[in-house]
Amino acid sequence: MPFEKCPVCGGEMVAKEVEKLLRGGLNTATVTASAEVCLRCGERLYSQDTVRCFERIREKLKRHEVTGFELMGQSFRVASCDLESLG
Ligand SMILES: [Zn+2]
Repeated sequence: MPFEKCPVCGGEMVAKEVEKLLRGGLNTATVTASAEVCLRCGERLYSQDTVRCFERIREKLKRHEVTGFELMGQSFRVASCDLESLG
């Protein structure tokens, strides 16, 4: 991770698993992803791969390609932020 200090407030960053809400078209999904989270202001930083993974999930939601996503109410649950399994 490139940041040891928060780029917003200079606070301490810790590695955490976070729930990220993603929207694509009319669909939404949550996925658990690794992030660096600021202990002071809560700013979240993601790796490039994780950001690409979010974009992939958003595209899939937009096209309603939701095979392998778990439907939870109106929202989908994506098991993990894994570029290979997303295709
Ligand atoms: Zn901060």
